[in-house]
Amino acid sequence: MAKSYDVVVIGAGPGGMTAALYASRANLSVAMVDRGIYGGQMNNTAAIENYPGFKSIMGPDLAQQMYDSSVNFGAEYVYGSVESVEDKGEVKLVKTDSDELEAKVVIIATGSEYKKLGIPGEHEYGGKGVSYCAVCDGAFFRHKNVVVVGGGDSAIEEASYLAGIVDHVTVIHRRDQLRAQKVLQDRAFENDKIDFVWNSNVTEVLGDGKKVTAVKVVNNQTNETSELETSGVFIYVGLLPMTEPFANLKITNEDGWIKTNDQMETAVPGIYAIGDVRQKELRQITTAVGDGGIAGQQAFKYVEALSSKGQTEAAR
Ligand code: NAP
Repeated sequence: MAKSYDVVVIGAGPGGMTAALYASRANLSVAMVDRGIYGGQMNNTAAIENYPGFKSIMGPDLAQQMYDSSVNFGAEYVYGSVESVEDKGEVKLVKTDSDELEAKVVIIATGSEYKKLGIPGEHEYGGKGVSYCAVCDGAFFRHKNVVVVGGGDSAIEEASYLAGIVDHVTVIHRRDQLRAQKVLQDRAFENDKIDFVWNSNVTEVLGDGKKVTAVKVVNNQTNETSELETSGVFIYVGLLPMTEPFANLKITNEDGWIKTNDQMETAVPGIYAIGDVRQKELRQITTAVGDGGIAGQQAFKYVEALSSKGQTEAAR
């Protein structure tokens, strides 16, 4: 039989953990389901400098502190990979790979995953030099040269992090301007261990069968092709929403991000979406936390409204 909760939060990143904190502190029974370690993308982030209260904190440390808060009022962490959510009106059925959970409210906080370049060699050399996580893999490249692909916050922040470990970092960006926040750009430009290859696309990861040895680079202005020797390729070319299990609910936009209003309500009553998985402008820990607080509070109101409706119907 499915275990019943007031609220099931899907995803234990900063948004999900905050929603679990707010809902459980309001005395609701809460399960927070995640298929991995709590913390989400924070676990892949070295120093976090834009979360108030901490001048700088390691991502995994902030994840641990948020987790401790999130379960402090009785929310349960449930390990599992959510495969589907069925809307049965006042009850939602959440199916994981090993369990079934019933809830009055579902809060989707599944976030996003790193986009792949989709070039030859990328998959083949995954774990053999190709990485999407500088914090996890940077130490393997001590005293070596690496390449970072992309020009957004992730690419530039992680390039600076890698420069503290490796001998040299080359950032390869498809335009002649970075998208990253100015503070991150300035830091990278000032770092003499980082240089930039502009207007260029990485078209192939090359290797000796066991490990990465170089990347093939094409200048998109001149069409000139070159090979750049490197031991590592860190790819940060954007994010894809993790919304596949919710396709049946028809709550996403054409790019797969979930549409909500300011109260984090989706088009389905009782189903909310928060954090990076939402259609939104600014994807940050702070904004995910804000979304989580709102959804946790809305969940309380929704459950209260359901129970007073039930009481009125019973009294008739
Ligand atoms: P992003 O902002 O979408 O940037 C992706 C970068 O990859 C862009 O520079 C883009 O180039 C480039 N790119 C995209 N597709 C490409 C392709 N096929 N080939 C080559 N280059 C490609 O992604 P992100 O940097 O991962 O950041 C995601 C979100 O997280 C953002 O909202 C960001 O602000 C946030 N974030 C914040 C922080 C922080 O506040 N410290 C840290 C990390 C991430 P163009 O510029 O030409 O489009």
